[in-house]
Amino acid sequence: PPRAPYRGRFAPSPTGRLHAGSLVGALASYLDARAHGGTWLVRIEDIDGPRTVPGADQAIIRTLARFGMRSDEPPVWQSTRTARYAQALAQLEQAGLVYPCGCTRKEIADSLANAHARHTTLAYPGTCRLGLHGKPARAWRLRVPDGPRAVITFEDRWQGRQTQDLALEVGDFVLKRADGQWAYQLAVVVDDAQQGITHVVRGADLLDSTARQIYLQRCLGVPTPSYLHVPVVANAQGEKLSKQTGARELDADEPLPALVAAARHLGLQLREAHAYRSLDAFYTDAIAAWAERFVPSAA
Ligand code: GLU
Repeated sequence: PPRAPYRGRFAPSPTGRLHAGSLVGALASYLDARAHGGTWLVRIEDIDGPRTVPGADQAIIRTLARFGMRSDEPPVWQSTRTARYAQALAQLEQAGLVYPCGCTRKEIADSLANAHARHTTLAYPGTCRLGLHGKPARAWRLRVPDGPRAVITFEDRWQGRQTQDLALEVGDFVLKRADGQWAYQLAVVVDDAQQGITHVVRGADLLDSTARQIYLQRCLGVPTPSYLHVPVVANAQGEKLSKQTGARELDADEPLPALVAAARHLGLQLREAHAYRSLDAFYTDAIAAWAERFVPSAA
């Protein structure tokens, strides 16, 4: 069957400005799209109201442009798409795949402490599966079955074969939070499907979420994209680089040194930054180097 045309995306949460760590994720997704002759999109993941920083979305889009990366279609904001998330939850509810949960964090922690004695690593023990026991509904959870249907295996283009048993390692996970916010897992799956995303390229900090997303895609009857998770950039203490762990703001007036450093973090062999006369010259080399490594048909 004919393969769908390549569509990739960079999906930052607007919790701060772009830094050396998030630049790596942006660049990897951009290079992969260009190396495939595909479409590259920017999606602003601003559904976590409390974490969203006003103005960070526009600052990210501006900085990306200064670094030579422009969305091929107008960027979309998840905060404008909540009706789609509600529709997906309703679809799952009709299929009997979700249930309301009345547990507080403390109740979950307590029952996990007990469950620990039985050697489980579950994130949620399934307390409300059979009903709320008179408690008010707080969150909505997706039912994860026991057995082979919950064992998700996928081939990551960078990290290799991955397997997670959702029933043992995750449990029934939240799609709508107790504070009324839509969960990242639901929003990302709905939007990737609706935007026709064929290739997801992002940081390895999200590797652990991928099995949940694949399971959710199956529940919703939408296609599973291919995945590539790039190593995250760490600070001197080995922590993932973020504003909280000391990432400095990128210098938009000097994009080449940061771009060359990001490309090297991705294992691409490029010249020194000063050897590049323009962003175009950098991208020509970087796309070729990425293609040689990650796009077999291009070799
Ligand atoms: N918004 C998520 C983040 O910034 C990334 C989502 C994704 O790429 O799937 O961490």
